[in-house]
Amino acid sequence: MTQQGILIVLSGPSGAGKGTICQELLRKYPDLHYSVSATTRPPRTGEQDGINYWFVSTDQFQKMIADDDLLEWANVYGNCYGTPRRYVMELLAAGKDVILEIDTQGALQIKSKFPEGVFIYIVPPSLNELADRIHKRGTDSEESIQKRLSSASRELNSAYDYHYVVVNDRVEDAVDKILAIITAEKCSAKRNGCIIDTVCTCGAVK
Ligand code: 5GP
Repeated sequence: MTQQGILIVLSGPSGAGKGTICQELLRKYPDLHYSVSATTRPPRTGEQDGINYWFVSTDQFQKMIADDDLLEWANVYGNCYGTPRRYVMELLAAGKDVILEIDTQGALQIKSKFPEGVFIYIVPPSLNELADRIHKRGTDSEESIQKRLSSASRELNSAYDYHYVVVNDRVEDAVDKILAIITAEKCSAKRNGCIIDTVCTCGAVK
């Protein structure tokens, strides 16, 4: 029997560096699969449909909700974002590990459906650093930046709903910590009942 893959949920305030961390994680751990979200937000310069997001109209997004095609969805900073169900369910069933990069509202929905998921919250070293990073990114309007900054400290308090908190001071360090978390989760007793059974019945564990 194939062991179910691990569902990893990464959240954090805008500018915490989730996107960069995810890219680096996927590079270092190619067996990890990134779930591309659907969004009604218009693409930023350089963003590609099907790579960064599935860019859809509000009508298309409403249809996905009506058809129960989304595992979770939320309105974030005035746009809708959601996780397409099928991709995630198929990979997990095939024993593959999947990472979602979603906001805290969506993470809570996922937590109620997948309590065995691994929930990681990325924190910037300080609020000043966060503001600096969002401005330097240069991809958002001033209005959008202000929305993101004003919700940052409220958002940071959602970290208590997660299993792990990782400070993103240096991307490499944050990525190494997340890889260590994944390794530890893979060794957790709750995920390894079948190994214990195999050894007890004199089978060999590969
Ligand atoms: P951005 O517009 O900067 O790409 O993303 C804005 C916020 O939406 C980020 O906090 C990001 O994690 C979140 N987000 C991206 N995809 C999803 C999703 O599928 N579901 C939810 N709930 N949030 C998402």
